[in-house]
Amino acid sequence: METPSPVPADEASILAALMDPGRVAAVRDTGLLDTPPEESFDRLTRLAARLTGAPVTFVSLLDFSRDFYKSAFGLGEPLNTTRQLEGRSFCHYAMVSDGPLVLPDVTQLAGFCDVPTVRSLGVRAYAGIPLVTAQGQVLGSFCAVDFEPRQWTETDIEVLVELAHSAMREIQLRKAVRDSDALNLRLQEQLRRVDELNKALAELAAKDSLTGLFNRRAFDHSLALELAIVERRNSPLSLLMLDVDHFKRINDSLGHAAGDEVLKQIGCILSAGARGIDVVARVGGEEFAILLPNTNMPDAVDVAERMRVAVSQAPWSQASSATVSVGVATLMGGENACGLYARADAALYGAKQAGRNRVAMA
Ligand code: GH3
Ligand code: MG
Ligand code: MG
Repeated sequence: METPSPVPADEASILAALMDPGRVAAVRDTGLLDTPPEESFDRLTRLAARLTGAPVTFVSLLDFSRDFYKSAFGLGEPLNTTRQLEGRSFCHYAMVSDGPLVLPDVTQLAGFCDVPTVRSLGVRAYAGIPLVTAQGQVLGSFCAVDFEPRQWTETDIEVLVELAHSAMREIQLRKAVRDSDALNLRLQEQLRRVDELNKALAELAAKDSLTGLFNRRAFDHSLALELAIVERRNSPLSLLMLDVDHFKRINDSLGHAAGDEVLKQIGCILSAGARGIDVVARVGGEEFAILLPNTNMPDAVDVAERMRVAVSQAPWSQASSATVSVGVATLMGGENACGLYARADAALYGAKQAGRNRVAMA
């Protein structure tokens, strides 16, 4: 292709373009610097060599102090692995050339003949198509090199322009994939946080704030679940209803806050005395319930008695000394949650009637 002899850009404008922060940021933003060769880029340089007949073709990305070759065809191992050149390169001139830089014989062109690769590699002909982003930043170039003088044809340049376009698409595609990966990660992180919040909310909704035990709602839910299990397994299920004796007196003599402390303490004692599968709940002001899966009446009475003794023997101050009355019921065939609950409550009432600080069975 006959072109007027290109005049090399001056050093100052090359340096300014190389160091331009926006351009350098765009180059680094490709995420391709120092990445290994990839077939999608190698295919383009191979095709460029095949179609133009140039022995060497490459895709360069220009960081501010070095040329990185994302793909190089025909350059041989040493350069292919280091992918780096010292000093000015033809790609620097292509970067500021405002279109394809086409050099048929660099040794005949003043200013170009002392580019280091002319001597070190024997470069004689060069054609470079700047790789330009949509924002106008030049990332590098798509280049062909010959070691003989060469009249680049119009078709050669058209081929290089098309392949440069494909390389640019490839670069943009990479960035889009990386951006969407990053977005996905952020999304996953947010979903994880929502999940955590949901769990915390569910926990809050199920727990009594004073004692940290399950609340009435969660207890009812557990009772319904246990009933469903019992139906399938035919295992016994018992329920303890506990009520603090003369709690009003504790409140009246020590104040509501001290009363709260007593309730907390009783909550701890009941939790400590229960098995992992038992469900301990605060179901009313000073009323507690304990669901005992896989527990028959004699065992449930033992547990109730243990709980009663544990409360009465806790190291209370004289004024706050607390006891509980306990009603015990074991599920009967065909009974529902309300029936079980009502019988345990009736047994509790019986324990109160019989003098408090005692266990009664339904
Ligand atoms: P009994 O032995 O018959 O159960 O007598 P009691 O005094 O425990 O029963 P009563 O139902 O007369 O009184 C219960 C008291 O519990 C009244 C209420 O003010 C108090 N109470 C209910 N909820 C709370 C609470 O969350 N904190 C405190 N400090 N007191 C509460
Ligand atoms: Mg009560
Ligand atoms: Mg009470």
